[in-house]
Amino acid sequence: MRNLIAFSASWLAIAAAGAADPPPYAPPLTKTAQANISNIRPSNPSPIGLGTGSATGAAAKLGAKAPAAPKLSEREREEQAEAELSAKIAERLAQMRANQAARAAAAAKAKKEATAKAAKIAAMPPPRANGTHWAYEGEFGPANWSKINADWAKCGAGNRQSPIDIRDGMKVDLEQITFDYRPSAFNVQDNGKTVQVTMGGGNFLSVGNRMYELVQFHFHRPSEERINGKGYEMVMHLVHKDGEGRLAVLALLLERGKQQPAIQTVWNNLPLEKGDVTSPSIVLDPNDLLPQRRDYFTYMGSITEPPCTENVLWLVMKEPVQASPAQMALFSRLYPLNARPIQPASGRIIKESM
Ligand SMILES: [Zn+2]
Repeated sequence: MRNLIAFSASWLAIAAAGAADPPPYAPPLTKTAQANISNIRPSNPSPIGLGTGSATGAAAKLGAKAPAAPKLSEREREEQAEAELSAKIAERLAQMRANQAARAAAAAKAKKEATAKAAKIAAMPPPRANGTHWAYEGEFGPANWSKINADWAKCGAGNRQSPIDIRDGMKVDLEQITFDYRPSAFNVQDNGKTVQVTMGGGNFLSVGNRMYELVQFHFHRPSEERINGKGYEMVMHLVHKDGEGRLAVLALLLERGKQQPAIQTVWNNLPLEKGDVTSPSIVLDPNDLLPQRRDYFTYMGSITEPPCTENVLWLVMKEPVQASPAQMALFSRLYPLNARPIQPASGRIIKESM
């Protein structure tokens, strides 16, 4: 009995020390300990009980009553201690099993959460490209514009892109473009891609029962568009917008010839640094940029730089505008090449004045 108490107590100490993980032999020991303990229940104090104390048995046989009481009391204390120990062991085991179950549940939960997180990541779309830098050559050039930014997808997948080689136009009696331009305030910016002139309000053109206001004009070298395969040394794009935000771009092809006064006004006011803006105190009349004849080609296309937005009405004047070799040379020092390559016409209808 004392051995059992000692053994159980030492095991309890071991179990308590290694509370996290009970040794593998714990369950069999428990079973044995409980079986042994149940064999000595105080409810069965047989006077001739086997293994319940030989002194007690001998005393009963001899009929000696007096010494029985203190011995029984001692045995009871012993049994009570054993019962308490047994209860403690059972309680401790229950606690350890509960801890073990809680740890297993926590591990299962963590695994489930990790699996769910991995599944969520796998289901997520790849990060959207959101670059903003583009160029006319190299890694950031026109062939890669659509990959630089997810919002520039039309640059690669669009089927109404500009510029195009304008050919096989349908010759029809096109309505005249009505220009309502006037001398206006302007500012000039070298924006890193071109020289851009932003116009004060109040300059309109009307075509197809729509009125578009001139917002800005800028330059490309060489011309982006071609006419029956022929390119020009430069082109001016006059960008107009209507009340609903629709764009109409008037293209004025530039060829070598006499000096162009309005272009010279722009060159005279170029900022010294890229990104800077000059706001001259003089006015510029966009009428001075237009050619004599007003015949034109028209087709539906896009803006010719990212994001390559489509549904742009293109109006390409047939008669080129002249600019002097010196004026051409000045721009070529800033931008020797700032033209997007020709895009597929994809069966688009091109109309031209007869
Ligand atoms: Zn342009």
